[in-house]
Amino acid sequence: MEIFCPTCREGYRIPTAHVPKTARMVVCNSCGTAWKQFFDKQPKPVSRMSESKVFEIMSVRRPTYSKVVLKILREEAALEAKLRT
Ligand SMILES: [Zn+2]
Repeated sequence: MEIFCPTCREGYRIPTAHVPKTARMVVCNSCGTAWKQFFDKQPKPVSRMSESKVFEIMSVRRPTYSKVVLKILREEAALEAKLRT
């Protein structure tokens, strides 16, 4: 895995066999910054999510408004646009 210095962005490559299982204090050879590095497993990329899970999230984030609510939202947006100009 690769770790990066939070101060100077110097990157360090750690062979997988030498990656510790717990957080360690590490020191940047370049600028001397010491920081606590976590060596947890890489978070799963979103694309690995099952389709049903993705659909679930999408449906939660896209609530269905009634026509009345949509009208109010449009009016508010128009008003806001007027105020900004
Ligand atoms: Zn550094």
